[in-house]
Amino acid sequence: MKAAEVSKLTPMGSVHEYCKECVCGTGLFNPKEVLNCTGDKAFIRPCPLFKYRMGDNKSSLKAMRQTCLMCMGESAPLVAECDTENCPLHPYRFGKNPSLVGKRGPGVPFKAKGNEVDGE
Ligand code: SF4
Repeated sequence: MKAAEVSKLTPMGSVHEYCKECVCGTGLFNPKEVLNCTGDKAFIRPCPLFKYRMGDNKSSLKAMRQTCLMCMGESAPLVAECDTENCPLHPYRFGKNPSLVGKRGPGVPFKAKGNEVDGE
């Protein structure tokens, strides 16, 4: 996949593309290969993207971050320095959606546990 195509992927699309490349390489894509993936039983540790692999679940940016950390030997600085721009996870390697940066309002203020108001 080309870097320009990667930059247009949604989070869900990125996960599915990554899984396609993981199980099918760059060859012909067979959806059953991804569906039948056994990454949840991986020897070292279950694949964080397993439940998102078909691109039809709400995607998890945290799962993408975990996958990038696994890819780079748990080194956050190496994930930050990753220059593999044709990897489908590249835009989401920090666990955030870059297209939403600055588009969200301040949101609901964080309520510390124990400060709940009655009825909430
Ligand atoms: S974006 Fe970089 S760190 Fe993340 S999975 Fe791809 S190659 Fe690995």
